[in-house]
Amino acid sequence: MPELPEVEVIRRGLAPRVLGRRILTVVVGEKRLRQESSPEELQQWLPGRAILEIERRGKYLLFHLEGGVTLLLHLGMTGRLLLLPAASPTLPHVHLIFEIEGGLDLAFQDVRRFGQALVFPPGVEPAPLAQVGREPFSRQVTPAWLAGEARGRSRALKNFLMDGRLLAGIGNIYASEILFAARLHPATPAGHLSLADWARVLKETRRILNAAIAKGGTTVADFLNSRGETGLFQLELMVYGLGGEPCGKCGRAIARISQGGRSTFFCPRCQKGK
Ligand SMILES: [Zn+2]
Repeated sequence: MPELPEVEVIRRGLAPRVLGRRILTVVVGEKRLRQESSPEELQQWLPGRAILEIERRGKYLLFHLEGGVTLLLHLGMTGRLLLLPAASPTLPHVHLIFEIEGGLDLAFQDVRRFGQALVFPPGVEPAPLAQVGREPFSRQVTPAWLAGEARGRSRALKNFLMDGRLLAGIGNIYASEILFAARLHPATPAGHLSLADWARVLKETRRILNAAIAKGGTTVADFLNSRGETGLFQLELMVYGLGGEPCGKCGRAIARISQGGRSTFFCPRCQKGK
């Protein structure tokens, strides 16, 4: 599933190629995404409007259009946004095509269709954003704020980090990598960390997310950028997907456990509980 770095890579890839251009038409496929505005709403609000800004909030992309209209996209589990020359051969599993001025098609491809494409008229705040927590790079995110949110909580540290209502955009891959870098056991109760621990978690969170963006994101299954290219950060992963392999720091076999129904990878020697 795309996480913050992958969505940011898409944003940075799209922006220089589509900003200032109008959406001409929207082609709606037969199969809909699980959460998609009606074809009538899409046709009412999108055609003829220029794309003024593309913003990322957590794992959401917000296309701010002329006249105060917002198009919100979420890639779900397997979504891709591919910018193709107009009238390219139709790819499988493309559910929406936004035809863009200048001979471009922005195709929303999504095998599992957990993605979202919702349009919001002027003055209507996109409802899903009410559930999105603080951005990891925001100045409002500090070790003291994290410690305050975690105080008294027995919730496992990895699940705490992945709670998008607190901290936006961190999913399964990056949570495992951050905790390896911060040398903390993923099952540690979040409330047991010291302020110094939170400072380390925040520093590693920002370092790893930035490194992943610089490498074009992580492709372990589906992720492609808007040009259809894979990321490269999967080559830098230290624990995710490496169960049974030797730890790159100490040589001990990397362990895999299940937390909240998702796989967590960690080094039992390098990562300590509290
Ligand atoms: Zn180790």
